[in-house]
Amino acid sequence: MTDQLIRATAADGGIRAVSVITTSLTEEARQRHNLSYVATAALGRTMAAGLLFASSMKRPGSRVNIRIQGSGPLGGITVDAGLDGTVRGYVTHPEVELLPTADGKLDVGGAVGHEGYVYVIRDVGFGYPYSSTVELVSGEIGDDLTHYLATSEQTPSALMVGVFTDSQGVSAAGGLLIQIMPKAARDETLVELLESRLSTLTGFTSLLQAGKTIPAIFDELLGDMGLVILPEVQMVRFHCSCTHDRVLNALKLFSEAEIQEMIQDDQGAEATCEFCSTVYHASEGELTELLSELQKDAVSG
Ligand code: ZN
Repeated sequence: MTDQLIRATAADGGIRAVSVITTSLTEEARQRHNLSYVATAALGRTMAAGLLFASSMKRPGSRVNIRIQGSGPLGGITVDAGLDGTVRGYVTHPEVELLPTADGKLDVGGAVGHEGYVYVIRDVGFGYPYSSTVELVSGEIGDDLTHYLATSEQTPSALMVGVFTDSQGVSAAGGLLIQIMPKAARDETLVELLESRLSTLTGFTSLLQAGKTIPAIFDELLGDMGLVILPEVQMVRFHCSCTHDRVLNALKLFSEAEIQEMIQDDQGAEATCEFCSTVYHASEGELTELLSELQKDAVSG
């Protein structure tokens, strides 16, 4: 099934549901960054969550930035996702691989670390972005971000994110977010019913692997609760907004002497965008121009 995001409501708007399939874009991230199995799962889960978080924003151009900084060997995870369905992201140590856990699962919690922080920034495109931080719960990402939604955004939520990778690459990835609005939260019977349904689900990727579509998953969970599936099927994709000029500009962080050296020793430079691993080449001429700009700045500054 192609990558897509679908929204739904139930209980007269008291329940909001959104689900996303991210199989192809997670595979693209895996190839771009040469991710290990466990890194694919960690980044893939966070990218699916980013798209789900961004999907509830209203203003066009809104974006969500999720950074998970744990104590584990993977280092940090950074994801940037937009209401427009674009997402990009990277991990600090994409090569880190761990042995599976005792029950045969990828040890995402071990790779991310059980201690650390989740930072979420919501940017609507003007004014100060809304940012918030919570501590990690398990490093498994789904739990950590559910905890974030409950404590920081005060919305009781169920978040499931998953990535399944075999020797051919990513074969299923995506997520499901169900949020209970205040008016439905008072209806204890409804909340209990929803909780018991959710507890029977064995994971999002196993539903996809069983051939379930997003509408079928919604129907199974919320079919008898006044389910309304919104007609828009939104396409989602891996996309990075980097450009040659922007990455070249980042070379200004180097000292004049360092840039001199790049010109003399290497007759140019290579700069890699950390979000998408695209390599940009700066020619000798471009570096010389950059150098004169730096010198001009130094004189006027
Ligand atoms: Zn990029």
